[in-house]
Amino acid sequence: MKRKGLEIINADVNQIIDQLNKALSDEWLAYYQYWLGEKLVKGKFREEVAAELGQHAGDELKHAGMIADRIIQLGGTPVLKPEDWYKLTNCGYEAPEDPSVIPVLKQNIKGEQCAIGVYQKLAETLKDKDPITYYMVLSILKDEVEHEDDLINILEDIQ
Ligand code: FE
Ligand code: FE
Ligand code: MG
Repeated sequence: MKRKGLEIINADVNQIIDQLNKALSDEWLAYYQYWLGEKLVKGKFREEVAAELGQHAGDELKHAGMIADRIIQLGGTPVLKPEDWYKLTNCGYEAPEDPSVIPVLKQNIKGEQCAIGVYQKLAETLKDKDPITYYMVLSILKDEVEHEDDLINILEDIQ
């Protein structure tokens, strides 16, 4: 049956799905970067930093779930193969090769700043075109701004 929920979208749905799959790839890579960072991080304030990284990992996984659900609702398919995350990602992945507190914080701040730029751009293209995806993107953007703020605050406390 025709879906009224799709008729209210005033944009190319396939293009939205493509953008969402790129964001989904970012979220999985961000999730893993935080998840691994929580386990590996060492040095002064390790416990505090690890706890924050663990919280953020949970948030990125939640974002991945929100995005995948919306892709499916739009009639698309969430990226099927992890190997495609690297092809689709906007923000990439920074391996925590140096697991000291400060470099790990800096890598993740860089990731959040990239994510903020990606979601800000996406929000701009969706505004007045796809209210539901727009609303979801704004809610993710709000989390990424909080993530950046949390990490910068910890970094400034340490330094
Ligand atoms: Fe995220
Ligand atoms: Fe984040
Ligand atoms: Mg936090």
